[in-house]
Amino acid sequence: MQLFVSESAFWGLLVSAIEVYKKESYGLLLGHRDGQNFFAAHAVACQSAERHSNWVKAREKSYARVVNFFQRLPTLSLIGDFHSHPEHEIALSPEDVASMVRNRVYVTVEIKDKAKDKYWSYNEDGTLSGTTDNWFIKIAAFGLDPKTRKPRMADVLCPFAIGFNIKDRA
Ligand SMILES: [Zn+2]
Repeated sequence: MQLFVSESAFWGLLVSAIEVYKKESYGLLLGHRDGQNFFAAHAVACQSAERHSNWVKAREKSYARVVNFFQRLPTLSLIGDFHSHPEHEIALSPEDVASMVRNRVYVTVEIKDKAKDKYWSYNEDGTLSGTTDNWFIKIAAFGLDPKTRKPRMADVLCPFAIGFNIKDRA
């Protein structure tokens, strides 16, 4: 299971997590699915999501409107969603797991105050992490295993992000 993240989706994940820090961001992933592999072309934040510090849920009505809109796009599909875990690790909560369905990909974005600079790189567990000006950010992806129907981590691939580092302040 792999999730390929475009440059646009990478920025979408980061900006939405940073914007509402220390609350949770929430949004939708648009792109394509090929079997158990996914390509996220865009990560679109949902403005009306009710944000709390440890859970998030889009308001039902506006969420349904956005989902319907995306489901009718001819070239892109709704492949999953994302939310941030401010000052929490990437692991899925029981509520996160309960909302999962097959053939979708779910991204969690850990965000916390930066302790020291870290260039963006892949980690052993398939996650991708690095720092920005003020934050440490780790991106993880999960899907339901088709056999066990339990959550499984996917490898997050984002060539654009690798080696990315924020400019030093002169
Ligand atoms: Zn969560």
